[in-house]
Amino acid sequence: MKLTELRQLTGSFDNWQKAINNKELDLVEVAESLENLLQLVQDKYQAFITIRERSEILKELRENVEKRRPLLGWPFTMKDIFITKGIRTTASAKLLEDYIPPYSSTVYKRLQKAGGTLMAKTNCDAWGFGASTENSDFYPSRNPYDPTRVPGGSSGGAAVAVATGVSSFDISEDTGGSIRQPAALSGVTGFKPTYGSISRYGAIAFSSSLDTVGIIGRRIEDIIRVFSLIKGPDKLDATVYPQQKLTQLMLPSKLRNLTIGYLPEIMKEGVDKEILQAINEVKDFYKQELGVIFKEVKLPHFKYGVATYYVLAPSEASSNLSRYDGNRYGCDRTAFTDEAIRRIIIGTFSLASGYYDAYYLQALKVRRLIYEDFLRAFNLVDVLLLPTTPTSAFKIGEKSGDPLQLYLQDIFTIPASLAGVPGISFLVRLSSRGLPLGLQLVGPHFKEDLLTSLIAFWQEKKKTHLVYPQIEDE
Ligand code: GLN
Repeated sequence: MKLTELRQLTGSFDNWQKAINNKELDLVEVAESLENLLQLVQDKYQAFITIRERSEILKELRENVEKRRPLLGWPFTMKDIFITKGIRTTASAKLLEDYIPPYSSTVYKRLQKAGGTLMAKTNCDAWGFGASTENSDFYPSRNPYDPTRVPGGSSGGAAVAVATGVSSFDISEDTGGSIRQPAALSGVTGFKPTYGSISRYGAIAFSSSLDTVGIIGRRIEDIIRVFSLIKGPDKLDATVYPQQKLTQLMLPSKLRNLTIGYLPEIMKEGVDKEILQAINEVKDFYKQELGVIFKEVKLPHFKYGVATYYVLAPSEASSNLSRYDGNRYGCDRTAFTDEAIRRIIIGTFSLASGYYDAYYLQALKVRRLIYEDFLRAFNLVDVLLLPTTPTSAFKIGEKSGDPLQLYLQDIFTIPASLAGVPGISFLVRLSSRGLPLGLQLVGPHFKEDLLTSLIAFWQEKKKTHLVYPQIEDE
């Protein structure tokens, strides 16, 4: 099977469903083509930690098709922080290099039941700490549009898998930007729903008041389909909100009365010209096509997001990581690497009596102010349009010596995480250098329908979900 044919199948559930229903697919050939592409993507971009055997993939594909499960075997990947029974799960950390879990995360179980076929576990920054996958304890992943650059992180391998077209979607996790930022840098769609939408049972915990399970994919309709299959209450995770509505796309006529807020004041410094241009293009598009009204809004505490996050997230991480004490998961290679050690120290310090009030408690107060900024903004506008990242993909090694520079990558994604509101990054176009430019829509709690409808309208007109990097010498 040719790469373009395979991409048509993984890139649209409608195409996949049609091909399965018309019995056009030879599943042996599909499994073989998927494996070849997985290998190619691994060789060139190091997107995976574990790739499943072709025979296992084929067996599950067949079963999912035969039993007519809702996803009909549609092949997907998972960030390697989700516990998968019998399949190695490492969080891209050496410490868990040989960990084969005896149970499965709720999301994985739900996807098995829904008939998705898991192909591989994707590479990320170890424990989810980073914005480039350079902090993976195994190897960095590479940007599919330019292998000398990073794909973003921490879910970098996930974004590569979807961007190259080997994976239909990747189940990922976003604490401060880990879904939206790599989606932006690698040219795909990064969906972080409202905090508490999807069960985190069996997701390796980083910062529990922020960790949000989400999806990296292409067409927003397909992302909603997967979302509806995995969200909702779980008796194993008390933080999931029980009364969630179905996310449904609104008709374009319903979008005409919307007001979108934009934030010129947060974009004054350090934002690439081309990203600012992209903001204007998207504004013009929605104005012209839908008559949407744009209003300037201010989020006065937005600028404190990164500082607040880098007290709270390491504090919670230092507590969550204390379970890797050498007794439970072994300690042959007691391998916490630099970034994890840095966070354990910062977190422990912020929580220590004597410093607690000055750092941890203070950060909690600022978090509340940021949350209130969003609530106030959403009294004035329906959703917000903002950059996902300050720049397009940077070079491997360019920022790895300076943690602060990497932390600043998340300047536009962290505030929505602190407020627990949904945010979706979508591809606007490629830059003059051929690198993806992504922007973000952020909305009120549980208003995923507004965000997805606006993006669906964009994709329908602009076909940006069909943009792929060239990965073979054709
Ligand atoms: N880049 C951020 C960090 O390093 C966010 C990571 C994430 O969302 N998992 O913490």
